[in-house]
Amino acid sequence: MHIHFIYAGGTIGMVDSPRGLRPGADLDSWLSRLVPPAPTRPISKAQRPAGSSPREASSSGATYTLTTLSPLLDSSDTTPETWQTIIDEIRRHADRADAFVVLHGTDTMAYTAAALSYALTDLNRPVVVTGSQLPLGAAHSDAAANVTGAVYALTHGAPRGVHLFFGGRLLAGNRATKTSTWDLQGFDSPAIPPLATAGAPWHWSAQRAEHDASTGRPAPAPYTRHDVVVIDLVPGLTAARLEAALTPAPVAVILRAFGVGNLPAADDGPLSALSRAARAGVTVVVASQCLQAEVALGRYAAGAGAAEAGAVGSHDMTLEATYAKLQFLASQGMRGAELGTWMGRNLAGELTEPTER
Ligand code: ASP
Repeated sequence: MHIHFIYAGGTIGMVDSPRGLRPGADLDSWLSRLVPPAPTRPISKAQRPAGSSPREASSSGATYTLTTLSPLLDSSDTTPETWQTIIDEIRRHADRADAFVVLHGTDTMAYTAAALSYALTDLNRPVVVTGSQLPLGAAHSDAAANVTGAVYALTHGAPRGVHLFFGGRLLAGNRATKTSTWDLQGFDSPAIPPLATAGAPWHWSAQRAEHDASTGRPAPAPYTRHDVVVIDLVPGLTAARLEAALTPAPVAVILRAFGVGNLPAADDGPLSALSRAARAGVTVVVASQCLQAEVALGRYAAGAGAAEAGAVGSHDMTLEATYAKLQFLASQGMRGAELGTWMGRNLAGELTEPTER
């Protein structure tokens, strides 16, 4: 199996500096020590993105190439354009690689994993996104365990689709969310169980095959950046405050409401501002602040108003999956009600259809 690594940045390759951690470790050499290096067979220049540094190594039946993106990012600097750079890089190597590992910062790793999943539904190969809580050079770093775990998953039957490996667990990429800034098991997938748990032996979920089914869009238009606003509902939020946050009108708003998607119905409350936004063509998505949620706008009268105003619920999608999906669909040219309708469709296993529950 040939695995192509794409190093995008993150703590995994960071070093100390007077202003805190920043990219700077020699990840290329570290990777080649982690897996015994094989004779170098450089990739032709035409195949390299600017600033890349491909090299090749091999390990127990697998060969590797590495592309280092430039600039390396703290993942808080990631944008939809960064997602597209990674996607382009995967597609550039799709003829020669059997699988991909994306090394990425943990802060926005779940957004990137979800974004990749929508854009690569036609890719007949698995992708694993990983990183670490501690730099590769730190004592007790989780970097080696996460990288070797990602490689193990790929060489032992991870299905096609985009996954996230972290802290001994293989999660569906568009179901994952960062749950801890310090725990070495810093990610969870609240709506569905892990695809696999590392151990002796690894335990694979019975749902393993389910995630390779996709109903996505082949040959999608590239990601471009769209104005999508995320707002947390709090007790007492006024229509005026929400209205101000929605001026000028964004393409879409995700309102993280209470419970199954409930929000106050008072005249001067957020519902009136949401209704005006929806009438003006803004796609309104009501999500939940609960980590584990199944949004159901009709269950309470407090949520029915949002549905009547034209809002759609986010089902059991994570915030990361919801946000990346809006960016993906907006990049396909969708707006308003059409965009809202597509938010309820399963593109890459990111949501559980109500009939599946
Ligand atoms: N700030 C880092 C990043 O997301 C955090 C990490 O990688 O763990 O790039």
